[in-house]
Amino acid sequence: MKQQTKSLRFVVGLLAIAGLLAMAGVRGVAGERSEVVSAGAKPDCCTATLASMAGQPFAIAQIDSSGKNSPTPGEWCWTFQRYVANLKDHGINYADGACAELGPADDPVNRDAAIPTLDTPIKTYRLSIHVFRENDGSNPAASQADVDAAVARLNADYATWRIQFIYETNFINSTRYRTLRSNEETGMKRAYANSPGTKLNVYVVNTGGGNWGTFPWDPDSLGLQGGIVMHDAAFVAARAVFTHEAGHCLGLWHTFHGVTEVPQCGVCYEPVGRTAEEGDVTGDRCSDTNPTTNSGFCGDPAGTDPCSGNPWVSTPFNNYMGYALSCAVEFTPHQAGRMHAWTTDNLTGWLNLPAAPAAPGKPTLTRLSGGQVLVTWADNSPDEDGFRVQREKKSGPNWINTLIIATLGANTTSYTDAPGSGTFRYRVQAFNGVGGSAWSAWAQIKN
Ligand SMILES: [Zn+2]
Repeated sequence: MKQQTKSLRFVVGLLAIAGLLAMAGVRGVAGERSEVVSAGAKPDCCTATLASMAGQPFAIAQIDSSGKNSPTPGEWCWTFQRYVANLKDHGINYADGACAELGPADDPVNRDAAIPTLDTPIKTYRLSIHVFRENDGSNPAASQADVDAAVARLNADYATWRIQFIYETNFINSTRYRTLRSNEETGMKRAYANSPGTKLNVYVVNTGGGNWGTFPWDPDSLGLQGGIVMHDAAFVAARAVFTHEAGHCLGLWHTFHGVTEVPQCGVCYEPVGRTAEEGDVTGDRCSDTNPTTNSGFCGDPAGTDPCSGNPWVSTPFNNYMGYALSCAVEFTPHQAGRMHAWTTDNLTGWLNLPAAPAAPGKPTLTRLSGGQVLVTWADNSPDEDGFRVQREKKSGPNWINTLIIATLGANTTSYTDAPGSGTFRYRVQAFNGVGGSAWSAWAQIKN
C-alpha cells in the first residue's frame, strides 16, 4: 500500500511536469528553428548541473585502494543526473518515486510478454544524427565514415533483440555548439531538433566528456529537448557508449540503478540476495541483471553490499547498461522486453513501419505492329513486390470492361498488350506485402 501511494504521487508528479513543459511551449513545436535560448520562467535543466555531473546524488563510494572498483573516470553517462535535475527543476524529488511504476511497460508481466523471439518483427527506429562543425565547416565532430561506423556498431549490438536503426546525417556549421557549454543544450536542441516525434535525434558535439539521452517516460522524450547528446570522442570511437545511450532512450536504466541511484538501503534499494520478484520492481526492474555497483571493472566489484552484507556476485559487468564498456557485449531478455514494451507504449512514432510502395508514373502507350500496345511506366518505389496493369475500353461516353490484364514482378517497367481494335486506357499500380500503391494516372490510346 505504501508503494502504491508513492507510485501515484510520482505519476502525478510526471503529469505536472508534462503540463509545465507544455505551458513553456517546449513540446510538439516541430519545425521551429529559433536560435533564441530560453531565458524565461522555465529553469534550464542543465545550466547548473552539467558542470558538476561527476557528483552523484545517491552514490555510495565505490573507489577502493585496489582500484578494482574505480568507475570509468569522469562518470561518462549523465543520463540519470540529467533526469534528476530535470525533475528537480519542476519541484519533484526523484527519491520520492525512485521505484515507482512509470508506465505499463514497467509491469514485469507486460515486459515478459514483449521479449522478442525469432518470429518478432524487427523494430527499425529512425535516427537523425546532427554532427556539428565550426562556422567555416572545419573540425567536424565526426566524419560521415565515423557516423556510418557508429551506426553499424549500434545495429550489431541490437541485432540479437530484433532492434535496428536507420539514419540520416546532418552536418551543421555552428562554432557556438561545436563545443557545447553547459547552458546551451536547450538552445541547440530548439534550433536543430528534426521532427523529434518521428526520429530519435542524436547531437554529436564536444561535451567535455559526458553523454546522455532521455528516457521514454521523460516528458521531453519525443519533444524538442529529447534525444541523445554524444561526446565527439566517444562517438567517433564507435564504442558501446552510443549503444548505452540508445538503451536509455528505449527504456533501460543502468544495471547499477538499484544500488547507486536510489537512496541507500531504502525501500527502492536492490540488495544482493533479493528475490526475482523484488528484482523486477526495484533497480533496473530486470531480475536477470543482478545488483551491482557502477564499477567500471570487468568483473564482480570487490567488497560487499553495505545493505545486505553479501558480496557482489554474478554481476552483469558485461552488460551494455553498466559502466564497464570495454567488456560490454549484451543486453538481457528482460532488458529487451522492456525496450520493446516501452516502444509500444511511447515510442512508436520513431519506428520505420512497413508501408505500401509509392505509385508508379503515368504509363506511356505505343502502338506496335499486329494490334499490340506497349505499356511502359516509371518504377517509383524501391520496395514493391510487383505491379498490376489495368485496362478499360471505351464504349460511347463510358469506360467498360475493367480488367487487371497483368500482374508482374518487381522492377518491371513495361508490358505488351493485345487489346484488339478500339479506344483503350491503361493505368498501373505497385504493390507489396502491406498493400497496393495509389493507381497511376490513366493513359489513353486509339488502336
Ligand atoms: Zn547511462
